[in-house]
Amino acid sequence: MNNQKDSILVVGAGIGGLVAAIYLAAQGRNVTVLEGHSWPGGKIRTTQSAVGPVDAGPTVLTLRAVLDDVFHAAGTRLDDHLTLVPLPVLARHFWTDGTRLDLTPCIDQNARAIAGAFGARAEQEYRSFSEQTAAVYQAFRDPVMFAPRPNALAAACAALSRPVTLPWLRPGLSLDRMLQARFSTPHLRQLFGRYATYVGGNPLQAPAVLALIWQAEGAGVWAVEGGMARLAQVLADVLIRLGGTLRLNCPVRAVATTHGTLSGVHLANGETLAGAQIIFNGDPAALPALLGQRAGAPKPQQITPRSLSADVWTFSANVGGRGLGRGALAYHNVFFADDPRQEFGPLAQGLRPANPTIYMCAQDRASGLPDGPERFQLIMNAPPLDAGQPKGNDTCPTDPFARLARFGLHLTPANVTTTHPQDFAALFPHSQGALYGLSPNGAFATFQRPQARTTLAGLYLAGGGVHPGAGVPMAALSGQHAARAAMADRTSAPMSHQTAITGGMSTG
Ligand SMILES: Cc1cc2nc3c(=O)[nH]c(=O)nc-3n(C[C@H](O)[C@H](O)[C@H](O)COP(=O)(O)OP(=O)(O)OC[C@H]3O[C@@H](n4cnc5c(N)ncnc54)[C@H](O)[C@@H]3O)c2cc1C
Repeated sequence: MNNQKDSILVVGAGIGGLVAAIYLAAQGRNVTVLEGHSWPGGKIRTTQSAVGPVDAGPTVLTLRAVLDDVFHAAGTRLDDHLTLVPLPVLARHFWTDGTRLDLTPCIDQNARAIAGAFGARAEQEYRSFSEQTAAVYQAFRDPVMFAPRPNALAAACAALSRPVTLPWLRPGLSLDRMLQARFSTPHLRQLFGRYATYVGGNPLQAPAVLALIWQAEGAGVWAVEGGMARLAQVLADVLIRLGGTLRLNCPVRAVATTHGTLSGVHLANGETLAGAQIIFNGDPAALPALLGQRAGAPKPQQITPRSLSADVWTFSANVGGRGLGRGALAYHNVFFADDPRQEFGPLAQGLRPANPTIYMCAQDRASGLPDGPERFQLIMNAPPLDAGQPKGNDTCPTDPFARLARFGLHLTPANVTTTHPQDFAALFPHSQGALYGLSPNGAFATFQRPQARTTLAGLYLAGGGVHPGAGVPMAALSGQHAARAAMADRTSAPMSHQTAITGGMSTG
């Protein structure tokens, strides 16, 4: 072992790991981030094209205040490092019957667009949906989303003081059933149901409360000038400026303990690094393999069932002049499946739908219409692997280009890279290709995810599979929680005499 006994090791340079490391380095801790891949950012990654790197992971930022806080903690400002472009159109939605709808951050503008597309009743239904989900968001924001541990009692009290929220919290009520009752227009049921997939859920099974995701999106969406990978690189640079160390191509093979006390990590290259505290940013489902028979791994119900995976295409292309034409696309576009039941029914059974919704990011359109070829990402929801394999009778993914042509969008793609559930499983070990950790479909999933502290003293978790869940801002918050827990424990217990943390995963 080397002599870094008092240092803190962060395993994984995903957003959760980078943010945790920044908070710790800003407090003067000696932090080393160990990343298995050759890039910082984890799921924030790119593929190559003739037009430049194409975002192959997240493409937009929501809840930007969370990242503003990270930069502030590091003694700097986000705007000094990155240009965030607020998107005037959150998403442009297309249906095969020719209907189109833009949603924006302005409720009144959306209401007018909905009235124009679907009539006055739909407008009223949208206004009441927005009002009710805003109340749900307010009730859950502090006691659940921003709290280090979700506080069910505080959330219940906050909900009781806002009676419009109560129907949304009914146990066993799916998002789909709630939307059936709230919207007479099938298009809007389909549109708002799709938000469950933003955290890997299926609207037929996910709890109605996930409708609050619309509120996070409605509060504003930003593109990062230069692509999302810039965010990860800038966070890595900030960490290094604070004195932290980032080692890429450095997979961790096992967590080391000495007489039951955490003592460091063993790297795949045979090296052993000492560390009195470790923050693990990989999928919590990987912990049993890193820990062997020792304490610290999550319980099965904290990691299974798995969330959705995806089939992702990244490429450059020219948009054909016929059909929809070049001017038709926004930055963020959704081409809906003909029938959401034919999409989410198979997904619920672990199968790919024949006719899926396609999400499209036209990365070069954040600040206007580009000339010539441009960069695209297409995402179609797919099931995670079943015990490490695609389900026996699962089919190949639908050809997205043929499907887009049915909407009148004709692309001539070049430099196409695909990432399927098997590829995600290989990129993110033990994830089974699930992109968001534990499935959010269960009524109590929000309260079941692992939290920052584990049952092994000194071992902490951060990332999208940890409370408060997936998405860049949520994973960043989990990094903040892990850093705070590590700092608090270090102050309260001398590192040379670590004591077991009582209460297991749910300990605050
Ligand atoms: C296609 C796609 C689109 C998305 N779109 C959006 C979006 O638009 N907006 C949004 O907010 N979110 C989006 N998300 C979700 C978001 O990307 C994730 O929730 C978030 O980035 C996860 O961050 P994380 O902290 O969990 O780390 P991850 O990104 O999961 O990274 C974990 C890191 O840990 C490393 N690691 C794991 N084990 C080891 C080990 N043993 N040794 C060394 N290193 C290890 C991995 O190599 C990896 O780099 C999207 C995700 C995908 C896949």
